[in-house]
Amino acid sequence: MPRLSEVIAALDALWPPERAEQWDAVGTVCGDPDAEVTRVLFAVDPVQEIADEAVELGAELLVTHHPLYLRGTTTVAASHFKGRVVHTLIKQDIALHVAHTNADTADPGVSDALAGALDLRVVRPLLPDPSDPAGRRGLGRICELDHPLTLREFAARAAERLPAVAQGVRTAGDPEATVRTVAVSGGSGDSLFDVVRAAGVDAFLTADLRHHPASEAVQHSLPDSPLGLVDAAHWATEQPWCEQAAAQLDEISDRHGWDLRVHVSKTVTDPWSTHHPSGAPN
Ligand SMILES: [Zn+2]
Repeated sequence: MPRLSEVIAALDALWPPERAEQWDAVGTVCGDPDAEVTRVLFAVDPVQEIADEAVELGAELLVTHHPLYLRGTTTVAASHFKGRVVHTLIKQDIALHVAHTNADTADPGVSDALAGALDLRVVRPLLPDPSDPAGRRGLGRICELDHPLTLREFAARAAERLPAVAQGVRTAGDPEATVRTVAVSGGSGDSLFDVVRAAGVDAFLTADLRHHPASEAVQHSLPDSPLGLVDAAHWATEQPWCEQAAAQLDEISDRHGWDLRVHVSKTVTDPWSTHHPSGAPN
């Protein structure tokens, strides 16, 4: 059985912490480097129900995409919801490790998993990492569809293939417009509109799109190169990464003869719990 330090070294090789954004907080939050690891659980959010799931599973390592403490802390008292997560994990000898923006830009990264879930052919990063001579790492991906779809059909495919959540999938732009090329970016993507526009794609699949950036992006693209927006739930765009990451660790485990049990949480931790369509607009 590998030690935690050996598993973490393998994860750091997949998603080097030094490639995380300056503002990010990645790496090991808690855990004893010498502890043995037999079970690993991957999840998007380090929330209490995921910590409880790790306990129930008998995992010794929980790997999440989102950081528990993005801005640091001066207390892990269990009276605070985040401190309670730390207590739950440490009491059961469960380590917590975070791979966030270093997993976003990796090859393969979060957006490769998103593209894969929709059977899209990845062409190149949307915002390439200049430090990668191979040009494969970076934020988001530009992809091609095997067969053109309308924006409506493409959004329906996203709704069908991504894990089910209350929000579903919504679009902006002409639903009957033809989509041959798309930009995809798991998680919040509305800071990427400039590069999306420069890429000249037909549609952009991401999450957390706000009124003004979305409205302006659609207006800006008219009439010559209309851009369709496909807005999915943040969690749903990143959950496919957990499957991809678990498969990567499985493969490493086999290679090392570790016999790790690698699990992916199916618990929906998207904060939105219901969705009430308001009827078709005029
Ligand atoms: Zn995210």
